[in-house]
Amino acid sequence: DRTTDAWRHLDAAHHLHPFTDYKALAAEGSRIIVRADGCSLWDSEGTEILDGMAGLWCVNVGYGRDELVQAAARQMSELPYYNLFFKTATRPAIELASRLADLAPPGLDHAFFANSGSEANDTIIRMVRQYWALEGHPERRVIIGRQNGYHGSTVAAASMGGMSAMHKQGGGTLPDFHHIREPHHFKYAQDQDPEAFGREAAGWLEEAIQAIGPERVAAFVGEPVQGAGGLIVPPPGYWAEIQRICSKHDILLIVDEVICGFGRTGQWFGSQTFDIRPDIMTLAKGLSSGYLPIAAVMVGQRIGRTLVEKGGEFVHGFTYSGHPTACAVALETLSIMERERLVERVRDDVGPYLMERLGALREHPLVGEVRGVGLMAGVELIRDKTAHAFFSPVGKVGTRCRDHCFNNNVIIRAVADTMVLSPPLVITPAQIDHMVDTLTRSLDQTEQDLPT
Ligand code: PLP
Repeated sequence: DRTTDAWRHLDAAHHLHPFTDYKALAAEGSRIIVRADGCSLWDSEGTEILDGMAGLWCVNVGYGRDELVQAAARQMSELPYYNLFFKTATRPAIELASRLADLAPPGLDHAFFANSGSEANDTIIRMVRQYWALEGHPERRVIIGRQNGYHGSTVAAASMGGMSAMHKQGGGTLPDFHHIREPHHFKYAQDQDPEAFGREAAGWLEEAIQAIGPERVAAFVGEPVQGAGGLIVPPPGYWAEIQRICSKHDILLIVDEVICGFGRTGQWFGSQTFDIRPDIMTLAKGLSSGYLPIAAVMVGQRIGRTLVEKGGEFVHGFTYSGHPTACAVALETLSIMERERLVERVRDDVGPYLMERLGALREHPLVGEVRGVGLMAGVELIRDKTAHAFFSPVGKVGTRCRDHCFNNNVIIRAVADTMVLSPPLVITPAQIDHMVDTLTRSLDQTEQDLPT
């Protein structure tokens, strides 16, 4: 068996990591994760690490679930693979589509399967434009998203997202995408009444629609809680106003539930937490708890009927759309969630406890704001609370705090200067204590090595 150093050497020699600062990685080497159980990971040196991020916001039922292993094994021995193209279907894909239709907010009763959030979001771009073309409005092409919104890494999904650093790499965005500012109360309008800010931030959509011309706009897309773009909990009234503006101009409302779906916000879907009635929603991550790649686009009667009745062939799909083994694992994941009442656990138990424990951090000199919903939370760091002055360059202090957490064996992510927590839904109060205590210690360490 290889030593940790040998693994690191091979990794450095042959592997290009996603979303990684290659210079920092070359200087420090990677940490090799070899095993996991519950909310814990172990590295190749045998050190236990508490996973405060559920992988990448996805391992909702926790690691080490034998039920999921058995579901995959059963399906692989019966029918390891078949596709859904042309006129074939498989039982796990049909069953998952119908189960999702039962779970999803009312009206979203058709599922189209993909393998990742990025692919699901690429799918909706083609789908909404095809929808409008079939309805006689091919000029409705523009999709409006939000700055710092994240919808994936493929070129089209990244164009729909508003991550400027991604846009800079690979030649900018594709045409017919537009971004409005995200409803970040703490960043843009700390002193304004949150409800008034919610209305104002939704009004940015109205302004954009008027500037583009309503007849050219196909859809608006947003995450119920913007995750990778800063853990931005929408201010009160924001989504109701967005919904009203979309209806007024007959613009489709797309909700990216890739993070928020499957209990993260204390309801099955973020759309339920924020009372959104989307025309389309995208799902991934928690759908299979990250055990296998699978994603879905859910659409309602409006789009479903047009595609089916007027559409002919929908020229789109993936070799592994609705992969039977991934569907079997997703079905078992949903059963675990229901059996163990994990959504209720987030809403009534561990969610409120996490927010209560994090609340004490408001007194910390580095902490400007603590925000969250369900079992997702952000702790935004600030240079000077009284002057409301942020750190510059943005992200450096957050990254330093993240590294302290990592060296203290707890995974907490930094998005810009916001520390993000999104643990498995099975986390215990004792593990929440450990996570928050470690974050507090890491904040103290960060404060000590701040440049003066
Ligand atoms: N949408 C949201 C809200 C996400 O957070 C992510 C990934 O983090 C994606 C889409 C992209 O999903 P994937 O990485 O599976 O392509």
